[in-house]
Amino acid sequence: MNLSNQPPVSPNPIRNTRHGSTRWHLVFIALVGLFGHVRADEELVLPLRLHLTQGATLAVRGLNLEVWVTPDEVKTIVLPEVNRIWKQADIRFEIERIAEEPIPESPNRARLLQQIADFKRADADQAHGSPFELTRSLFNPLEVHPAAINVYFFPYVGETLQGVAALGGNRVLLGVWTNKFSHGQEPPKKTLLTEPEPMNIGSLSRTLSHELGHSLTLTHPAKTDLPKGRLMGGAKQGYLLTPEEIAKARESAKKHLEALASPHAKSNRKPKGEAPAPHEG
Ligand SMILES: [Zn+2]
Repeated sequence: MNLSNQPPVSPNPIRNTRHGSTRWHLVFIALVGLFGHVRADEELVLPLRLHLTQGATLAVRGLNLEVWVTPDEVKTIVLPEVNRIWKQADIRFEIERIAEEPIPESPNRARLLQQIADFKRADADQAHGSPFELTRSLFNPLEVHPAAINVYFFPYVGETLQGVAALGGNRVLLGVWTNKFSHGQEPPKKTLLTEPEPMNIGSLSRTLSHELGHSLTLTHPAKTDLPKGRLMGGAKQGYLLTPEEIAKARESAKKHLEALASPHAKSNRKPKGEAPAPHEG
């Protein structure tokens, strides 16, 4: 609407002066500004189903890695930090469910766990698949929420990797042990739950925030992109989302919310058939 072409019609001829018209203009502009502001800042709340996998031990460089993060730590430390980071986009994540879930027994279980333990980033394009794909058949399909974003806390997701997600998807995989800090040269250590700014080695909360960015269709900026210090990476990693990224993530968040509102999303059961192949980010 172009307000400048719509002078208000006043029943009072005395008010219908240039001065009055300007004043009305200001009122209209102030109102539009106010509502425009409210719309842009409308908080979007996305549910997360948090799966703390149990009973999978990954043997990496002489260590036996398991999930050590507790539901209480996720609720009281990790999620508040994720929401602090995403506040800049007025997107908030809330827990739809958090549960410790055993990895079901299966004939391929030991082989898949070993493949993930041995996974190197350089193997990503090779035939034996990524940790994201390998874990797909490890997790209990009956526990998957069909529309909320499912976050899996796993012992370890491969050399120098800390998390994987599909662009626009509803599955995030996190490792609670990492050797990214040493570029894979040393045995893994427990990730920090949070890290004060500025980012130094990263934290589970920041990794989750980054992977949720992929779930909301954000990709990695080029190393030459400015500004630096971005949540999605680039020359120097950090916490910042650009206005373009915020707009893109909010559009995607609305699509996630539409999917959640569909009748299909009412079921806690995984839909029949495989989910489409993910784009990894
Ligand atoms: Zn990424």
